[in-house]
Formats: sequence, C-alpha cells, structure tokens
Amino acid sequence: MNDQIQLEDREYVAGVYNRFPVAIVSGKGSIATDADGKNYIDMAAGIAVNIFGYCDEAWYRAICKQAAKVQHVSNLFYSEPCARLAHMLCDRTGMKKVFFSNSGAEANECAIKTARKYAADTKGSDCFTIITLKNSFHGRTITTLSATGQDHYHELYRPLTPGFVHAEAEDIDDIRRLASENKTAAIMLECVQGEGGVTALSREYVQAVAKFANDNDILLIIDEVQTGNGRSGKLYSYMNYDIQPDIVSTAKGLAGGLPLGATMLGEKVKNVLGHGDHGSTFGGNPVACAGGVSVLERIDDELLASVRRKSKLLFETFAKFDGIEKVTGMGLMIGLKTTKPAREVAEACIKDGVLCSVAKDRIRLLPALNIDDSLLFQAMDVIRKVVR
Ligand SMILES: *Cc1c(COP(=O)(O)O)cnc(C)c1O
Repeated sequence: MNDQIQLEDREYVAGVYNRFPVAIVSGKGSIATDADGKNYIDMAAGIAVNIFGYCDEAWYRAICKQAAKVQHVSNLFYSEPCARLAHMLCDRTGMKKVFFSNSGAEANECAIKTARKYAADTKGSDCFTIITLKNSFHGRTITTLSATGQDHYHELYRPLTPGFVHAEAEDIDDIRRLASENKTAAIMLECVQGEGGVTALSREYVQAVAKFANDNDILLIIDEVQTGNGRSGKLYSYMNYDIQPDIVSTAKGLAGGLPLGATMLGEKVKNVLGHGDHGSTFGGNPVACAGGVSVLERIDDELLASVRRKSKLLFETFAKFDGIEKVTGMGLMIGLKTTKPAREVAEACIKDGVLCSVAKDRIRLLPALNIDDSLLFQAMDVIRKVVR
C-alpha cells in the first residue's frame, strides 16, 4: 500500500517535497500508523501542527460538533467560534484584535501589511522597510519569501518584493545600522529560528531589539508560527523574554491540525486595518476556529509546566549521547546537531519507528505537547542508537 500511494503521489503531485518513504493513514495520540500497518512514535507532529497528536478526543469532538452545525459562513457574516477564539487570544496575550487567515505565510502577510500601513499613516509612505534576521523563515509567498533572510530561497523567484533588509542575529548594532540607513517600519523575528536550524535567540538580544524598536516607534513583529501555542513552554515564545510585541503572527499548532493563521494586533496597531483594507475568504473558518478554541482552552499552566519538564528531560538526555554535538532550541522544539548528516539520521530514525524532521544541519524534534514520557524514552532510545 505504501508503495502504491508513493507511486501515485510522485506521478501526480507537484514535485516540491522530498518526502520520507512513509504514507501515514491513521494515528492515535503520538503513534502514527502507515499504510502497511507499521507504527511510529511521532516526534514531528506534522511540523508542530498536531499539538495534541492524532485523533485527540476533545479536539475531534469540538471540530465534529462545529462541522455538523455550520462549516463556513464567509466573512460577510459573524460566526461564534471566530469571535470566541479572538477573544481568548486577546485575553491570554494582552493583544487587542486578531485577523484570521489560513497559514503562517498569510499571518505574516497581514503583519507586514499592517506594519506598512501604520508606518505610512504615521511617518509617511516612504517609510516601509522591514528588518528581518539572516537565517530566518517567514513563509513562501513572494513577500514572505522576501522577508525570509536566506538567499537560497530567493534565487529562483526574483524580482522579490522590495522593502526587506536582513540583519545579523545577535548583533544589535547591525539593526541600528540598518535602521539608520532605511526608513524602518518594523523589525520582525522568530525568538527561536525554526527552519533556520532550531536556534533560540538570547534574552539580552531580544530585549535590546524590543527596546530599540519601542524607543524609535518601530513596530516589533514576532513570528510565532512555529514557536507559538505552547511549544516553547509558554503560550507564546516571546513570553520567555519579558517583552511585549506590537504584532504576533501564529499558525501551525493553533487549530491542532486544521489550517488556521492568526495575526494578533497590539494597542498601537489595533485599528490600522479598516473595512476593506484586508481580507480572506476562508480566514476564521468556524471548524478551524472551533479546533483553535479547544486547543487554547487546554494550553493551561499545568500543560505548559509539563512541556518545560519534558523539555528539560530531552535536553539533559540528548546532551549525553555520543554522536550528538549540540542540543538547541526551547521547550518541545529541539534541534540536534549530529555528527552524522541529519538527513541520514532522520531516515534511520524513521526506519526504526521514530518520525522526525530536519532543519538545516539539525534533526528537528517537535513532538505533540501531551506526548507520554514512556514514548519519549522509547524515541530517545532509538535516536541514541542511530546517532552514534
Ligand atoms: C512554517 C512557518 C511559516 C510558514 O507557514 P505556512 O503555514 O507554511 O505558510 C512562517 N514562519 C515560520 C516561523 C514558520 O515556521
């Protein structure tokens, strides 16, 4: 069965993904089952999306209940799950308004549009530059690709959207320099660079960036698409740094497996977008938002404490393994710099029953937040044998 699915996919699906040779057909919690009936411990969670694993009871009930009532209303009309989720997000973050979309890239597009409009309204239409970091990842639309600070993503798709410059991470002077050379609307960053290799920024640096932005009326946008929704051990990763961003984008884990993006707007920018300034047909979809409500309700202090505890366990255990040179990241977003090439390690892990992903030269682990300790121990055991 696996082989048949793979053949059909390779024939008919655009060849942009270098998939691992597994077709997942079902799952329960953090166990995935492939088309040949083989089970895997899932340490990737669909790239940080399946925040409570597969077929989670409460989540599944919430989305089915909503789908049985109304599956879509369009943004011509009001819908309860959308209003409720926006209210919950604001209560939990101190942000003031939320724009819903369907993906991380779209959440960032809204952040970028809001920043440009705010700067044009307050400083003039020649103030539009957004500073992002080298090695960042913000999405694959032409504009979010332009925001992404990695040249290899750019090469095929010029001309890019103008107005983005890329600063060296951990170097506040580079941000000062770029802000003095360009009329700057915003600084956008991931507190833990995900696709860039699972690297957490230092507290000193993030706080210095936040202060510089605030002192100069430059908006601070935090991209929480991957780090958000409990993954870092706090609800949003910026909360580990004691800063208050102006705009927060998130997506991946927000609806527990359904496509949903959110752009949260702080006090300064809450009214920047007015009627007709932005929109999305699917954005705020009731089924996706019902999933989001159910996910957010469960990311409480107890769950977050368990994320931090599991994180510590993984960090401390991996640090002792032969063949692992460095353990990076935060919470349940963990990068392993292995002596063997990462892709080779990932393929071996998957063969031995542990699903994982690769980011740059690292193995990237993003398990469901509620994964059992016993599965973590089993997965670590497989990884220990594969990396050495
Ligand atoms: C995945 C990701 C995106 C893009 O999200 P899509 O849903 O694929 O558009 C943007 N920013 C970060 C930090 C991400 O990890």
